[in-house]
Amino acid sequence: MTYGEQIPVRTRREIEQMREAGRHVAEILLELREIAKPGVKTIDFHRAAEKKIEQRGIASSFVGYGPGGLPPYPATICVSVNDEIVHGIPGSRVLAKGDILSLDFGIHTGGFHGDSAFTMPIGEVSEQAADLIVVTKECLYLGIEQMVPGKRLSDIGHAIEKRATGAGYSVVRQFVGHGIGRKMHEPPQIPNYGRPGRGPRLLPGMVFAIEPMVNVGTEKVRMLDDEWTAVTADGELSGHFEHTVLITENGPEVLTRVEGSH
Ligand code: MG
Ligand code: MG
Repeated sequence: MTYGEQIPVRTRREIEQMREAGRHVAEILLELREIAKPGVKTIDFHRAAEKKIEQRGIASSFVGYGPGGLPPYPATICVSVNDEIVHGIPGSRVLAKGDILSLDFGIHTGGFHGDSAFTMPIGEVSEQAADLIVVTKECLYLGIEQMVPGKRLSDIGHAIEKRATGAGYSVVRQFVGHGIGRKMHEPPQIPNYGRPGRGPRLLPGMVFAIEPMVNVGTEKVRMLDDEWTAVTADGELSGHFEHTVLITENGPEVLTRVEGSH
């Protein structure tokens, strides 16, 4: 992992715009949570999200996104079920009781992006699945807790990995958190693992998307033929939580959270 990149520090005006982008993401994700029930198709989340984006006069960060020669991402949201880690493409799959569902959603408005994700149970789920969800969310918040001026970048991933491995789970290494601002993915990369006390010092005005992906079994990833969907190599469950977070003088401010959010 390289730490040499310049990490932008946002102006007050840019921060206001990022707060607005984050609020849209949070509100829409809360609304989408309401439709997550057995019998719903994964494409229904895309259709609902598309409508809400249009109604609000904002723009999807995901539609058409295709870095490094990947086929342009075809939907407004990533919908990943059970062993799907991230980037599941919405389609005809029908949610069933006992599934775990991960929704990952991003928009931009006024030139700035917001990005957030959560995993939730569909009806009653196994004890294992319920525990994975709790632990992955704790990983997110332990990472966020490190976003204090003077700490170093790798303190975030270290806190995340410690909690996940302490629970007997693994953290995905192939995908990482990231800086976010005028682009959805900006430097620095923020791995969900590593030794503490390394990398640049954190400063007020930096904005990061922190996103632990935690697996019950192996950390290894397998890619599906659609070139987007990442699944666990052993077919075991995976959880994913993400927030866009600003570092302030007083510590972290979660930009993609409103009342009732994850
Ligand atoms: Mg995301
Ligand atoms: Mg992200």
